[in-house]
Amino acid sequence: MEKNKIFIWGLILFLSIQSKLNAENPTSIPFIGKNNYISFGSLSAIFKNLKLKIDYGSQKCRIISDKSEIRFKLDSLFYVHDSSIEKISRAPVYRNHKLLLPPDLVEAIFIHLIKEDISYEFGKDRLVIDKIIPEEGLSGKMKLKRLIIDAGHGGKDPGSSDAKGYQEKDITLKTSLVLRDFLKKKFPSLKIIMTRSSDKFIELEERSKIANAEALRSKDSIFISLHCNSSISEEPTGFEIYFLSQTPSTEMARELSIIENKVLDNKNTRDVKKIQAGMLSSYVQRSSKKLAVNAEKGLEKWLSGRIVSRGVKKADFSVLRGSLMPAILIEMGYLSNKKESELLRLEKMQLKLSKGIVAGILEYSNSKN
Ligand SMILES: [Zn+2]
Repeated sequence: MEKNKIFIWGLILFLSIQSKLNAENPTSIPFIGKNNYISFGSLSAIFKNLKLKIDYGSQKCRIISDKSEIRFKLDSLFYVHDSSIEKISRAPVYRNHKLLLPPDLVEAIFIHLIKEDISYEFGKDRLVIDKIIPEEGLSGKMKLKRLIIDAGHGGKDPGSSDAKGYQEKDITLKTSLVLRDFLKKKFPSLKIIMTRSSDKFIELEERSKIANAEALRSKDSIFISLHCNSSISEEPTGFEIYFLSQTPSTEMARELSIIENKVLDNKNTRDVKKIQAGMLSSYVQRSSKKLAVNAEKGLEKWLSGRIVSRGVKKADFSVLRGSLMPAILIEMGYLSNKKESELLRLEKMQLKLSKGIVAGILEYSNSKN
């Protein structure tokens, strides 16, 4: 391909990735032979709308989708689409009962015949395809007025960290900023308040103070605190969503709340706890649970198995304590698990997490009575 063509394809790919970034688990097709051929069979197994017609006498082939088609001849360096003739670098061949297509013809199929939005990459030995989920569920009307985003930890309190030294406070901040920017673009009228937008230490009670000041301004406010989990074992994976309760649901939740509350609990805060705990209203708790359940659904959809759900749980987190509005705390995944920690650091994954959370917020605010 010419340089500028590569640039344009690159740009299209870049833009589509930038605007969507919501691929499902990728599928890959290994190349066949030195010329990086892709067999039509493996392609049509993924894209079921593709049909092939070969006239063995004339060696003419047609790949047809619902409304469009690409025509070419075996061992020829041209294909025809919409009556325009395009040159390709290698010829399609028929070998061992398989039609083998060169990468540029496969790309032409993606562009002209595949209706679904996909992203793809020709790697070293295989083609990787990511199917893109349409952004439905993210385009509804936002009834919520205010969202408080709380990036867990910060400054002198790094939270947990992974084996390579990446810290929870950085991942929670980056994800919070991605979430904020996504929401700003999508729902300009929603007021977003960040408890921190830089690497700053903020007391836990200060965070709920910031939030509650907003809650008094509008009843339609919610609070979301973002964290990453950690375990002594490398094995545990998955995200968890917590809502405040004075009766934590599991022993694990109790232990986790001790870890997350560590900063506050270093000080003598018994009185603060007592006062704030008394403020928990049944409305806030009921709504928080509903928000947690919807956020779980949204995250399950948008993470599509890359980070699995460990469920919605009750816990006694200081940062949620005394909240005057529905509030949840999301442990987005385990830093102690190597693969999950890598995922959590990817901006692409942070955007998926954000979209999952937004889908949950929309569902929550639309179903609220
Ligand atoms: Zn944390």
